[in-house]
Amino acid sequence: MNLGLFGGTFNPVHLGHLRAAQELAELLKLDRIVFIPAATPPHKTPSGIVSFEHRLQMLQLAVAGNDVFSLSDVENRRPGKSYSIDTVRHFRNAGDSGLECFFITGQDAFDAITTWHDWKNLLRLCHFVVMTRPGYENRGLHQILPPDVAGRYVYDAAGDVFQEPHGGSIFFRQTTFLDISSSEVRKRMQQGRSLRYLTPDSVIRYMEANRLYR
Ligand code: ATP
Ligand code: MG
Repeated sequence: MNLGLFGGTFNPVHLGHLRAAQELAELLKLDRIVFIPAATPPHKTPSGIVSFEHRLQMLQLAVAGNDVFSLSDVENRRPGKSYSIDTVRHFRNAGDSGLECFFITGQDAFDAITTWHDWKNLLRLCHFVVMTRPGYENRGLHQILPPDVAGRYVYDAAGDVFQEPHGGSIFFRQTTFLDISSSEVRKRMQQGRSLRYLTPDSVIRYMEANRLYR
C-alpha cells in the first residue's frame, strides 16, 4: 500500500492542490492520497484562517467522487501545534507492515524542511514527494539540507529518486503547475470577484453560503 499524505492549511483547497495530487497519484502509483488540513499550522499566523470545520467541509466537497482521494481530521484530534511527524506516526501505526507513506509538499514548503519539528526523524519515517515548479527542478539536496544529511542520500537515476539507505526517499516531481493559491482565492472572494475554474463549484457554493473570506 502506497499512501500519499498531503498536508496543508487548505484555506481553502483549490484546483492547484487537486490537480497536482491527481498527477502524483499516477506518477508514483499511490493507492490513496489523504488530504490532511492542519488544525494549528506551526508556520502560519492564525488570523484569516477559517475554522478547521469549514476547511474540512470544503475538502470533503472537493474530493467527493474521486476514489483515490480522501481526507483526515487527525490533526484536529491532537492538542497543540500540528506537527507532521505526529501525523506520519499516526498513519504508520494504523497501517500494516507493507505501508509506505509518501509525504507530499510543494517546493516552497520543502525548502524550509529543516525548520520543521523533528525533521531528521521525519525524513527517516516517510518518503517525501516534492512538487516542483518549472525552473525549480534539479536544485539538488545540498541547497536544502545540511551537508551531513544531504551526503547520506544517493541519487538513483533509474527511479529518479534520492535514496537514504536507512531512511526515506525523496522524489522531486514536476506536476502541471496551476498558478493558483489559497491567498488569491481569498482575495478574490473578498473583492466579490469570480472564482470559477480556480476551485470546484461545490467549494465556491460553500464559501458563498457560509460567507467565508468576506
Ligand atoms: P496560501 O496562499 O494561503 O499560502 P496555498 O495555496 O499555498 O495557500 P497551502 O494550504 O498553504 O495552500 O498548501 C498546501 C500544500 O500545497 C503546500 O505544500 C503547497 O506548496 C502546495 N501548493 C499550494 N499551491 C499549489 C499549486 N498551485 N499547485 C501545487 N501545489 C500547491
Ligand atoms: Mg502556501
